[in-house]
Amino acid sequence: MNIGKLYIIAAPSGAGKTSLVKAMVESTPHVRVSVSHTTRGIRPGEQDGVNYHFTSVDGFQDMLEKNMFLEHAEVFGNYYGTSAHWVREQLNKGEDVILEIDWQGAQQVRSLMPDAVSIFILPPSLEALRERLIGRATDDLSIIERRMSQAVSEMSHYGEFQYLVINDEFDLALRDLQTIIRSQRLSINWMQHYKEDLIKGLLG
Ligand code: 5GP
Repeated sequence: MNIGKLYIIAAPSGAGKTSLVKAMVESTPHVRVSVSHTTRGIRPGEQDGVNYHFTSVDGFQDMLEKNMFLEHAEVFGNYYGTSAHWVREQLNKGEDVILEIDWQGAQQVRSLMPDAVSIFILPPSLEALRERLIGRATDDLSIIERRMSQAVSEMSHYGEFQYLVINDEFDLALRDLQTIIRSQRLSINWMQHYKEDLIKGLLG
């Protein structure tokens, strides 16, 4: 049985998911974020192997045929996939793993690994979402409008997730995420593994 816990975190583009996850990982031991493979082009400021493993469509298809993905999906016309090997390796080592994926990938992971904990992050309003998308300035305005309607479509799947975090105030949303993880870490499986010595000591 896996010792680490698998977390699925989804959100519409611009909800602040990546910054929240980054802050959460930096403040929590034993959590790793999966770096997805994608066929989309690299954006300014992104690094291959850090934000994504940027691959060609042929390279992606090859991995798909070799069954190397835990889940995969086409999002905004590009392919995205999660490395099955890396995720399983981390979970077996006892590390918690976060998948930042869309609702389609979330459905696939849920059916494969029903113990996965799923979290959806919402922006506080459509206005705030639009401002964040404009603030990023990585896409032109027509793309931003398209992403707004894609965001609404992504958000329509929020009810398929177990937890809902509203990213209005960053610090509060971060605390909500930390609380979800903290609660999982009080579970018997996690405590038995990480507090093994303490429990042995108590029982003599
Ligand atoms: P972006 O290209 O803006 O980084 O991400 C676009 C969308 O693809 C986001 O909703 C993001 O969560 C999703 N995504 C990123 N990596 C994966 C993945 O490995 N699998 C799936 N299914 N979706 C992903």
